[in-house]
Formats: sequence, C-alpha cells, structure tokens
Amino acid sequence: MTGPVVQGWCPGALRPMLSGDGLVVRVRLHGGRLPVAVAERLAFLSERFGNGLIDLSARGNLQLRGVTEAGHGALVAELAALGLIDESPQAEAMRNVLVTPFWRAGDGAQEIAAELVARLGEFPALPGKFGYAVDTGMVPVLRDAAADIRIEGAQDGVMVRADGMATGAVVGQGEVVDAVLELARWFVDAGGVSGGRGRMAALVARGAVPPGRFGAVPMRVVPRFVPKIARYSAGALVAVPFGQMEAGMLDGLAGFGDLRLTPWRMVLVESGWPDVPGVILYDDDPLLRVVACTGAPRCLQGLADVRGLARGLAAAVPAGKRLHVSGCAKGCAHPGVADVTLTATAAGFDLIRGGTAADAAVAAFTADELLARPEILTESFDAP
Ligand code: SF4
Repeated sequence: MTGPVVQGWCPGALRPMLSGDGLVVRVRLHGGRLPVAVAERLAFLSERFGNGLIDLSARGNLQLRGVTEAGHGALVAELAALGLIDESPQAEAMRNVLVTPFWRAGDGAQEIAAELVARLGEFPALPGKFGYAVDTGMVPVLRDAAADIRIEGAQDGVMVRADGMATGAVVGQGEVVDAVLELARWFVDAGGVSGGRGRMAALVARGAVPPGRFGAVPMRVVPRFVPKIARYSAGALVAVPFGQMEAGMLDGLAGFGDLRLTPWRMVLVESGWPDVPGVILYDDDPLLRVVACTGAPRCLQGLADVRGLARGLAAAVPAGKRLHVSGCAKGCAHPGVADVTLTATAAGFDLIRGGTAADAAVAAFTADELLARPEILTESFDAP
C-alpha cells in the first residue's frame, strides 16, 4: 500500500495544488484583512471559477477550491486586479506574514507588516515555509502559530525574537524590519537552510545562538491564548464548520463589515454580530469538537467522505474532547494528537486513541457501524 504524499511546498495562487476537486488556489491577503468589496468579489470568483468552496488556512489566508486548469489564468487576472497577486511564485511564497487579528488602527501592526512585505526583496533566499508573526497587540496571541521570526509588543518598544528563543531584541517601530532582516541573514549564515528547507526553532534547538542583542530581553510570560467565539474590541470572532465556507457564507459575513482572517480558521468580523446561516456562533457547538479534512471525493488521496461522518458523530463527542476524522494517514487537518482519531482505510475507519492519524489503531469500524452505534465513540473517549 502506498502512503500519503507529502508536498514539499505551499500552494499559492500562481502555483496552485491539484486536489480531488480541481486546483486549490491559495490567496494570500495583505495583513490578514479582507475589506467588504474584496470579500464579496472573492465569493463571486469562487463560484465563477471554482466550486464555491473556500478554505480558511492556518496561515490566515483563503483557498478557492475546484478551480479548473482552463479558468486558472482568468482567475489570476481577477486576483491581480484586487492586488492579491505577487510578481512570481517565489515572491508569493516569501510573503508569509501573519498579523494579529486584534490589531487596532494606528497601533503599528499593519504598518510593520506592510514595511516587512515591501522589503522582502532585501532578504536572503529562505525556505518556502519560512514565516513571520506580527503579534504586537496587548498580549501575544500567535505563539501557537508557526512562524520563524516573531515580532511582539514590549514595554519600551517592539520585541524581535527568533522562534525557539525565550529572549529577543527590543527596538523602536522604525527599526523592526532591520532587526528581522538581521535575524533572517543570521539564520542562513548559521546553517539554518538545508536542501531548501529548515526552520528557525530547529536551528535554535541545535544550539545555534542568534547575535547578542537578540539575547538581551526576556520575552513576556503570559498565559497561552485560546481563541473563543466572542465579541472583542476589534470585532466578533466566529467560526465556520471544518474551517471551510461556501461562497454564500463569505458573502453573508461581508454583509456585516470588513473581515480579518486568523490562523485558527476563524473569522473576525469588524462590526456587528454575524448571524449568518452555517456560521458557528457558540463555543459549545458540537461541530467545534470535531476536526475533519477535505477527504474524498474532493481530495485525491481521500479514502472516504470524512466530513459527513464527522457531522454525524459530533454530538457523540464529550465537551472538552477532540475527535479527528481523517481521509488518510496524512492527517492534514490535525497533524497532532487527538483524543480519538478515525483514519479512513480501504476497508473503513481505524480508531486510534490519543494519537495521530498515522498511529496504530486499537479497533476498526465501518462508517455505518459508527453512525448506528455512536456509543462506540463515546466509550472510546472514556477508555483508559
Ligand atoms: S488527510 Fe485528508 S486532505 Fe490530507 S491528503 Fe489525506 S484525505 Fe487528503
């Protein structure tokens, strides 16, 4: 049996990825923001050139699904008209900048992100997934999101920190990008890149120490941020099932105001409480206890329809527990450990307790068995 295929690059708009439902076209936003007019246009384009399904990515971007090879060029032209296309796939891959969704006008976050993007041409060649987190709000909220260089608020300025280090350099807002550039150059010079890959935290874990000033100030110690569906001062943070919207849902959300995308596959609506059909507005919604990937038939590697099963089983998942339903052992939707994982196989679903989609199963069932007897699942959460 062949295992899942691991792609060594991130899909973009210029270099889309082929999936079971056609091309996946990832649209990198600027500063994670989606003004109403852009959101409405993207909703239209997702139906005009794709199948109307739009994923929220863990990098705060959107993915238009089901795009045809024939329509890709025209879609790119439309995206270019919205200012969402870079000059090359390389430039697109480098624009990997996550911004706290809780930024406030004039607080510097968007300005730092914009300057960083404008100066990426000065940076050395970096691995495709190398990224930055502009996390300068009242408290850092992006520490669980992948990033190689972190930019966080500090008492007397802005901290620039290598991922994996507990210290950083504190600089003025106007010096932030220079400090980021210094760290990126050090990363390359210190041997952080190997075969076109490499992450900052891995380099630090190997004992490499960034230049002296990046060891000067301890980072702030704050409780781990857990995003909740709620009204925040920046807007209403809401969720969508499995991190995927239909075009009508995006259009409906845009009816309430400008949007900000997050690495939590949630959307922050800048004004109003978005009572849109399908949008998850309560933290106790059982759908939030279930993670499921695209699965079959939309993913070529999917061995079963996982979202239908996940919806059917959501109510059987106890509060505070997590069920991961995966279309194959690759586990795209949740690479980590879940309380219970169901991994599709040629014969049904493997049931894994306290592991990942690729771990050893303790039992196997068909989807019909699981749906007919949800207590199988409930008991699995209680098992020692
Ligand atoms: S985990 Fe799901 S989305 Fe990922 S390759 Fe397998 S079926 Fe496709």
